[in-house]
Amino acid sequence: MDYDESLDTAVERARSALKLMEKSRIPPTPKNFELFYSYAGNRIPDLQWMMKRMLEAGQITEAACTLLHERFIDGALKEEQRKVSDTLEQAAKHIESVNEGAAKYGQALEDFSGRLGTVAGQKDLAPTLEFIFAETRAMAAVNRELEGRLQSSVNEIAQLRQNLAETRKEAATDPLTGIANRKVFDEGLRSATTDARRDTAWLSLLVIDIDHFKAFNDRYGHQLGDQVLKLVAKCVTECIRKEDLAARFGGEEFCVILPGVRLADGVKIAESIRRRVASRKITNRRTGEVLGNITLSIGVAEYTLGESEADFLRHADEAMYAAKRTGRNKVATQEDVARAPA
Ligand code: GH3
Ligand code: MG
Ligand code: MG
Repeated sequence: MDYDESLDTAVERARSALKLMEKSRIPPTPKNFELFYSYAGNRIPDLQWMMKRMLEAGQITEAACTLLHERFIDGALKEEQRKVSDTLEQAAKHIESVNEGAAKYGQALEDFSGRLGTVAGQKDLAPTLEFIFAETRAMAAVNRELEGRLQSSVNEIAQLRQNLAETRKEAATDPLTGIANRKVFDEGLRSATTDARRDTAWLSLLVIDIDHFKAFNDRYGHQLGDQVLKLVAKCVTECIRKEDLAARFGGEEFCVILPGVRLADGVKIAESIRRRVASRKITNRRTGEVLGNITLSIGVAEYTLGESEADFLRHADEAMYAAKRTGRNKVATQEDVARAPA
């Protein structure tokens, strides 16, 4: 959440937040402080309303603070989700009022037919007809207005959906290469190992590291280095299936989770990635100069049922280092670790 108040205002709000926390016996942890600071600044109307009631009733507890923080302060995602559900609620209300309007009109028609049954002559029919015309016009006007409102709700929902999808995507991707980031990898590894345990299924993991990348950067500059990272990410993506997860683990390291894949097939996939990258000639697009090739060292590990995610990752990482130690530009597995020179 952004705070853009002046220093004086900020100090004043901080003081009143602390005072209020002391009075309510809430420990001033960073999260609690943020909550009370936000309250002191009257920043979020719904939070204001809820906290005020809780404070007045002396019901504010640490657990309540955690919930309030989660609900009102955590993450842009949640805020977007809330907007979507608010808009949906709004749309539902509009639809309800259209239905109410229709019901009212239906009632008017029924009354009309009732009156038709009782009128004696044509002359008496005129005011009744006038009444029903007026009702029809009113109903049409109401419908037009509601249709307009409904349409803008629909547009708003579409826009919010798009924002939400974009925010989600941004939170999940590495901005340079466009593939999944470390956070998504960590979650992916957790769910892949959980699935493998549940289904007693095969699962393999690749750890990929660019060879002598520091030297490449030193020689050709970071910008070209970044182009290489993008190229490697693209080659990795081209060699794997939809159900696999490729992520930038950090720096010049990538990881690939391969559900349902045993070690021997993991090695084949790693080999195809290694060959694909090695076969690409890196050229400076600006000058046309050919800069040579980039190579990868790849470690492959197969998941052993019951092993922790950290151990699984460590095995793939150790295999990658074994590939480095035995010459680089190669694929190694856990079995090669012991054979590689220290
Ligand atoms: P090795 O073959 O042993 O892996 O050698 P290396 O030079 O690739 O490994 P080292 O860990 O010494 O250096 C990694 C380099 O990766 C250092 C850094 O310049 C480069 N690097 C890390 N992240 C980025 C990035 O985002 N962009 C660019 N251009 N370079 C990066
Ligand atoms: Mg490295
Ligand atoms: Mg490296």
